[in-house]
Amino acid sequence: MPQDYYDLLGVSKSASDAEIKKAYRKLAIKYHPDKNPGDKKAEDKFKEISEAYEVLSDKGKRAKYDQFGHAAFANGGRGGAGGAGGFHDPFDIFSQVFGGAAGGGGGSIFEDLFGGGGGQRRSNASGAVDGADLRYDVEIDFEDAVYGADKRITIPKMSGCKSCNGTGCEAGSGRITCSRCGGSGQIAMSQGFFSVRQTCPSCQGAGQVIEKPCSKCHGEGRVRVERKLQIHIPPGVDTGSRLRVAHEGESGVRGGQTGDLYVFIHVKPHKIFKREGNDLLCEMPVPFKTAAMGGVVEVPTISGKAKMKVPAGTQNGTILRLKGKGVPALRGGSRGDMHVRIAVEVPTNLNREQKELLEKFHDSLVDSKNHPRKVDFEKKASPFLKDK
Ligand SMILES: [Zn+2]
Ligand SMILES: [Zn+2]
Repeated sequence: MPQDYYDLLGVSKSASDAEIKKAYRKLAIKYHPDKNPGDKKAEDKFKEISEAYEVLSDKGKRAKYDQFGHAAFANGGRGGAGGAGGFHDPFDIFSQVFGGAAGGGGGSIFEDLFGGGGGQRRSNASGAVDGADLRYDVEIDFEDAVYGADKRITIPKMSGCKSCNGTGCEAGSGRITCSRCGGSGQIAMSQGFFSVRQTCPSCQGAGQVIEKPCSKCHGEGRVRVERKLQIHIPPGVDTGSRLRVAHEGESGVRGGQTGDLYVFIHVKPHKIFKREGNDLLCEMPVPFKTAAMGGVVEVPTISGKAKMKVPAGTQNGTILRLKGKGVPALRGGSRGDMHVRIAVEVPTNLNREQKELLEKFHDSLVDSKNHPRKVDFEKKASPFLKDK
């Protein structure tokens, strides 16, 4: 036994048209499927109150209902597009009540009322929704970042359904006019003084809906795939570099554009090289003797060995530069440099003979000539080198 229409709307049998309308408005907003996605109970309630409103807002129908109750509409059916005795689509009722002169710009009435956020991407008048851009993080070797490389990557994404060629329609079927908006793609609604036009939620503005959804993609026109791609990483990229691969994002819906793929580069640290922009840095141990007397040492660079002159008296931590031995520049320009930080290695594990030789050597040194830094330091530190 269907519930009494007056009870459904929460109004008395003597309620005025205005009271009925007001009650319906309140309930319609509360139970509208857009506000209760996936909630079957709310949807049923929405249909029931729309039915109740349709009857009670019509003088003739209301009189019949008052006299015969539900029996007066027993042969009616929902969705009969207003056929004799049948009920209208509840959404039509809803649009009628909330409709009126359009204006006030876009946006959903529900967003206005409930502050709900629509996560929907850009969609145009035909209901097309552009595919999302995708992000893919790739870790590459240091050398690949310097010289560039081709990489194979696999990205999971939404791609056009081959079974229906992206139409979303099962073979042999097509699209039919959306019953909710009558094909216009928009429904007008008003709330209080405000009147807004909203993209039809049934067809997302397309004005048409799929008659028979494709069994592979369930009507979305796209399916989840693992897309294998070969991407070219240009020389000179670094961690934080971002490559855009056009049209390799997700496929759009209803003719929307395909998004782009953004590949974010992460460069693995190198065993001996560090990178600063296009310059490379390497810390290299140099024997004490070489640092003291000077000499030529072999230096590893990203492009092979190079010879470097170490001046006599080179101190620990000194940075020597090899011009043009760094990272090739990303967009033409000049190549970076290689910086070699000298790490003077103090000899370890000295044997007896070596110790004696070193003692003799040390005794031969004159601080003022051979240890100028020591002398300079002692001078500055002298006030603090006294007993207190
Ligand atoms: Zn529609
Ligand atoms: Zn399909």
